[in-house]
Amino acid sequence: MAVLFGKLGIESVSDLFYYLPRRYEDRSRISHIKDLKPGEEQAIVGKVLKTNTVTARTGTGIFEVLLEDPTGKVQAVWYNMPFLKKVFSAGRTVLLYGRVELYNRLQITHPVYEILKDEDEKRSLEVGRIVPVYSLTRALSQRYMRRVVYNAVHAYLGQTRDTLPTYMRARKKLVDLKFAVENIHFPYSFENLQRAYKRLVFEEFFVLQVIMALKRQKHAGSGIAHELKGRLLDDFKELFTFELTGEQKKCISDIEKDMAGERPMYRLLQGDVGSGKTVVAMYAILLAVRNGYQTVMMAPTEILARQHYVTVSRTMMPLGVNIRLLVNGIDPKTKEKINDELKKGEIDIVIGTHSVFQEKIEFHDLGMIVIDEQHKFGVEQRKSLRRKNLKADTLVMTATPIPRSLALTVYGDMDISMLKEKPDGRRSVETYWAGEDHREAVYGFLKEEAKNGRQIFIVCPRVRKTEKSGLISAEGMFEHLKNHVFGDLRIGLVHGQMKSDDKNTVMRDFRDKKYDILVTTVMVEVGVDIPNATVMLVEHADRYGLAQLHQLRGRVGRGEHTSCCILMGDPGTEASRERLSTISGMDDGFQIAEKDLDLRGPGEFLGTRQSGLPELRFGNIIKDFSIMEEAREQAFNLVKEDPALQETRHAGIRANIVKRFRGKIDI
Ligand code: ADP
Ligand code: MG
Repeated sequence: MAVLFGKLGIESVSDLFYYLPRRYEDRSRISHIKDLKPGEEQAIVGKVLKTNTVTARTGTGIFEVLLEDPTGKVQAVWYNMPFLKKVFSAGRTVLLYGRVELYNRLQITHPVYEILKDEDEKRSLEVGRIVPVYSLTRALSQRYMRRVVYNAVHAYLGQTRDTLPTYMRARKKLVDLKFAVENIHFPYSFENLQRAYKRLVFEEFFVLQVIMALKRQKHAGSGIAHELKGRLLDDFKELFTFELTGEQKKCISDIEKDMAGERPMYRLLQGDVGSGKTVVAMYAILLAVRNGYQTVMMAPTEILARQHYVTVSRTMMPLGVNIRLLVNGIDPKTKEKINDELKKGEIDIVIGTHSVFQEKIEFHDLGMIVIDEQHKFGVEQRKSLRRKNLKADTLVMTATPIPRSLALTVYGDMDISMLKEKPDGRRSVETYWAGEDHREAVYGFLKEEAKNGRQIFIVCPRVRKTEKSGLISAEGMFEHLKNHVFGDLRIGLVHGQMKSDDKNTVMRDFRDKKYDILVTTVMVEVGVDIPNATVMLVEHADRYGLAQLHQLRGRVGRGEHTSCCILMGDPGTEASRERLSTISGMDDGFQIAEKDLDLRGPGEFLGTRQSGLPELRFGNIIKDFSIMEEAREQAFNLVKEDPALQETRHAGIRANIVKRFRGKIDI
């Protein structure tokens, strides 16, 4: 049995306590026999009148019992359970729960049963109550599991100590631990079940959020308190021909507050492509530089790093700051020189890819780290960077908005700023879903666009064709289009398996309009800016998440021309129709992200193994989001009042955290 329980992850009595039922069956209401309705599962209590065993022509043994209560009689039937004969002797009172069916008369088929010791004993573990149903391995029966859990609860629950302080339970109207455990398994009512569940979920989220709060306060006082130079923001605004949006101003003011504080900034800046994040980041950079510190800005690809370099230097040149680009393609001599100048403090801003920063570069005085498209970096990478630069302020930007529920779970130790509205001048991108039967028409349209001088992305799910997958590959598509479809157009190919230099050359050539069509893989998703590109065609679009499709769509519509996104795929299924209507009807990346999270769940949504998603036992971060918010508020208050969790009333929480996160967090 220990082995079987071990397979379920149950090794102790307390594991049993927290092994939540998968669902519940309401066997609490006992029906009169005369009121039984066919088609529903119902419970009855009755006396056994007689039993009978027959063998069907198929050889199946059928065991029949005729039961009676004061209102009527009914037959119960079991298949292939001959031993029941010994259980149901005439005159016994039994409880049955099962589906009532109508053949030539009513019968209860294969009901769960309980022999009552005396007629009044209507509560058993199997019937006459709301009964838990667990996820079990084949060899464990529900009946056995219920008995074991029941025994454990009754013998040992008295010994558990509640880790949530009484004041907090009172404040949040949460039931105590004993009530919660008992009622999560054997609820007296669905209302009690709800209260039990809420309590357990609250506690789980609460512990998680206390840890977030502890992490956040860990570096309090160890950062740089940047001085806000009065006229700096005005000077900064002068750099642009446009007005900052209200949201940009709000983000900037959040950042100023962070940077002026003693605690290092650790802020996530979320906003759709083109929402103006880079502009906000540039202000943060400028503020650090004006305070005499160096800044590093990192992008996930070389192309993006170069793009940022161009934007940032073009914008900030008038202010006389010294900016350098540091990417792999740079010759060793220049690299060495940059390293040297960085060490001496002669360079203010260095922009590059993250791989560059894994090498040993030394800063004279690093005060600000900006990370673009942070979801491309794993949690570990983020952590290691932070460990190296504990005092520097960190601003991470992402164009894949993370719904708040998920953000609080995965990035709960960060502050979050959002840019929801887009600055004027960006066009929305019409989105179409096209099946194979429209391919010819689509190609005709592409030709038209190219003839008009526009450029086109074609995204394929793989680089190379494999025997098995049958998916369109970038290489295959490239050959096919070149040789059979668009003989007169210039077609480029770029994908993640190419050498970095080659990739950059192709991207640069595309930007310089040397190609009409660029066949690629999702690598193009990340931030490339080609204002002349007006068509994004995605092959096998049904393979991508909504958020990712939205990202791809954001690659076009960045210039003055009307743009569109064509999703190739089978719109035949209900699921893909829902996705289509979602993606074509929504332009707001935040809404799309919510929907995507809803459709795919958190694991798929984040999509990487090292996404930092905690294992949750009880809570569902989507469904139970409001509980999460409550727990977070309480957790952050608590850590503010008692930063080391030293008060006696917090001893339980402390012990809980130490036990679960031993070695991972020091308090
Ligand atoms: P992101 O980094 O979020 O993709 P950027 O900061 O690169 O967005 O901004 C996208 C484009 O919009 C850039 O060309 C930028 O100059 C422009 N832009 C940014 N803020 C504004 C604004 N407030 N008004 C008009 N245009 C803006
Ligand atoms: Mg950007």
